[in-house]
Amino acid sequence: MNVDVAKNLKEVLGNLPDEVSLVAISKYHPLEYLEAAYAAGQRIFGESHEQELRVKVPAMPQDVSWHFIGHLQTNKVKHIAPYISMIEAVDSFKLLKEVDKQAAKCGRVIKVLLELHIAEEVSKYGFTFEACREMLRAGEWRDLRNVRICGLMMMATNTDDESVVAGEMTRAADFFDELKHDYFADADDFCYRSWGMSQDYRIAVRCRSNMVRVGTSIFGPRVY
Ligand SMILES: *Cc1c(COP(=O)(O)O)cnc(C)c1O
Repeated sequence: MNVDVAKNLKEVLGNLPDEVSLVAISKYHPLEYLEAAYAAGQRIFGESHEQELRVKVPAMPQDVSWHFIGHLQTNKVKHIAPYISMIEAVDSFKLLKEVDKQAAKCGRVIKVLLELHIAEEVSKYGFTFEACREMLRAGEWRDLRNVRICGLMMMATNTDDESVVAGEMTRAADFFDELKHDYFADADDFCYRSWGMSQDYRIAVRCRSNMVRVGTSIFGPRVY
């Protein structure tokens, strides 16, 4: 292993206020890297492919919380429903319903975040503010007993221009406050603002993120 995972992890944690959760994004990294992070105390890992989880989950200790961070096809939900702790990128009502259905079959309640599409180019996935408002206004989500909407996630535009990144994250944070006020005032579980990756997590914590998803800064560059 030519990456000092423990040292990198410590450095990232040193940049995070206590109230910010760190999701270690381990996609494409070998098991030994995850084990090194686990040995250094990390318990939340994020992956974006169901096939990779299939291998890694049984090989890692039981007390790991797994977050699904990628685009999730509805036909894959059933595979991860038995164990996934949070699905971070729910980008349609159709997917939300499928998560509810599969969670019910497992007798579980699965935490989800709604993914926002704010950045210009990064992803073609995610709700626009208006689509997200519309989905919540329609109210059908209230009948879903086996999913719990716990907040929002987004990816900022991939640019060196900090003002663009900070602008997008601040808009997401303001939108979180709007939804909290309009729909989740009594829901303590609606509390996560998931933004910030290796290149912009320091900006994210200044823009009210309380959940950062960091891969490269911990595990080094991914080998695809
Ligand atoms: C890969 C990925 C990350 C981590 O990116 P790094 O630049 O390696 O920190 C964070 N969020 C999502 C959604 C990702 O797909």
